[in-house]
Amino acid sequence: MRRWNGWGDEATTYHLPASAAAYLESLMGAAQSLPDASLDGILAAVPAPRLPPHAGISTDPAERLHHAHGQSLPDWVAMRSGHLPAFPDGVVYPTCDQDLRGWFDYARNAGARLIPYGGGTSVVGHINPRPQDAPTITLDLSRQNCLLNLDETSLLATFEAGVNGPDLERALAAHGYTFGHFPQSWELSTLGGWIATRSSGQQSYHYGRIEDLFAGGHVETPEGPLELPPLPASAAGPDLRQMILGSEGRFGIVTRGIVRVRKSPEVDRFYGIFFHDWQSGADAVREIVQSAVPVSMLRLSDARETEATLRLSGKDRLIAYADRGLRAFGYRAGRSLLILGVTGDSASARFAYHTAAAISRKHGGLVTGQTIGKTWRKNRFLAPYLRNTLWERGYAIDTLETALPWSKAIPAAAAIQDAIRNALEPFNERALVFAHLSHVYPDGVSIYVTYLWRRAADPDQTLAHWQAMKSAASSVVVSCGGTISHQHGVGLDHAPYLQAEKGELGIRMIESVRQSLDPDRLLNPGKLVA
Ligand SMILES: Cc1cc2nc3c(=O)[nH]c(=O)nc-3n(C[C@H](O)[C@H](O)[C@H](O)COP(=O)(O)OP(=O)(O)OC[C@H]3O[C@@H](n4cnc5c(N)ncnc54)[C@H](O)[C@@H]3O)c2cc1C
Repeated sequence: MRRWNGWGDEATTYHLPASAAAYLESLMGAAQSLPDASLDGILAAVPAPRLPPHAGISTDPAERLHHAHGQSLPDWVAMRSGHLPAFPDGVVYPTCDQDLRGWFDYARNAGARLIPYGGGTSVVGHINPRPQDAPTITLDLSRQNCLLNLDETSLLATFEAGVNGPDLERALAAHGYTFGHFPQSWELSTLGGWIATRSSGQQSYHYGRIEDLFAGGHVETPEGPLELPPLPASAAGPDLRQMILGSEGRFGIVTRGIVRVRKSPEVDRFYGIFFHDWQSGADAVREIVQSAVPVSMLRLSDARETEATLRLSGKDRLIAYADRGLRAFGYRAGRSLLILGVTGDSASARFAYHTAAAISRKHGGLVTGQTIGKTWRKNRFLAPYLRNTLWERGYAIDTLETALPWSKAIPAAAAIQDAIRNALEPFNERALVFAHLSHVYPDGVSIYVTYLWRRAADPDQTLAHWQAMKSAASSVVVSCGGTISHQHGVGLDHAPYLQAEKGELGIRMIESVRQSLDPDRLLNPGKLVA
């Protein structure tokens, strides 16, 4: 069963070994477990719905609570403290386009707003109703989750957009295919959510971002249906798919996605390579991608993340043994770990591995085989469960990300991390901050920053600490010329920084699309544009 106040399935726990807890304590100070609000207490405080009873609308407090938040840091503080700013007034589970049209009519007549909801894994406040909004209904799309068609000649699959990652891959695997879109939230996030947030999977270098994979589909908008034919390419004016990608539930509801699929790969392997420092690793990664070596993933941790990853794994004896070996070869404090993925048929995977390994060695890389890569692969969807464990031990954790041209990336990563650390100092607290290069392109790279700090006894104080760090980091992102989000989207948390990226005219263009498709402002108020 899904956890009501944290990440993932209740049956799964990320155990934090004593040595890892001691490591965190040495960096941030001793933390204490703080009490969380009880489910019964929160349910008792869910306000009465502001809409008249309707047979098709669930007003069950537990369902309204489940749909009141996503997975952002403010959501975590709200879930665990019980202070949720707003709840949807009801939840509906549409099963077809006709249903959705009915809910558009209902919302128009009742003066209500509608929030499309996929898996609820947004980390930036995409699905939260706001206290100032009109009565709100959440449209949970999870019942629209089937594979409708597989065109094996064109390698195109049509899915209902509420399908989640595991169900989608299972349906394709039965025919020998894969979609290959593996965000870390894969267990719970959905095709519609990926499209609406411009999501990126861990092996996007091989399979492509969702923009590359979304060939077409069907969108129900308050002004009528929009068909997006799956054309391999088209010069017929602007690409309407690009207006739906990243539309954050504001322009319409994606009900079906036609996606590009591939034969399941023969080989899907991951290797660990150590560099003397982050910069030499980054130089190797850039050369690999600019030489178009067909690898599937290049994930380069900085020194602090390399250290933290090893320490939090809890495999103390193995780590001590590896540490001695690495030191003997001269890989010391600044060492930086690259996880290299190769995916596809055996011959191209072999070629990709050998070419990437040779480039890495040229930059001082030490290729250590598959042990680290296998562990990474095994835990790739377990890592988010660490959030539950850390929170319960008294630590908060959040991530942020951006993308920039190569020429700016490493200095920007340093400036963002400094900004986070400095923002916490006035509170007499220390943040543990680290980063990795996560998605690579010939012209640039995305930077993914993780930061941890101690929770305060007062949840508002924990939120104030986060606000100070988040806004300091976001200002640096903007001043360095980075995007406010490479993969998480805008939601509520990044809304203040959108205009810096799009410009005033750009925001007017987005607003005019909203006006064309949803003139009565029925959908997801306050997201992307006012
Ligand atoms: C632990 C964790 C790890 C993550 N890792 C990654 C990662 O590796 N890569 C990445 O890209 N993201 C990641 N995310 C962020 C998140 O998973 C993505 O933004 C994801 O695409 C959201 O999908 P969802 O189905 O959960 O959408 P939701 O959170 O339910 O909704 C997100 C937005 O999409 C809209 N929406 C949802 N479905 C539809 C639809 N059918 N039609 C129109 N609008 C719709 C909603 O209105 C909302 O605005 C992570 C999140 C967590 C919590």
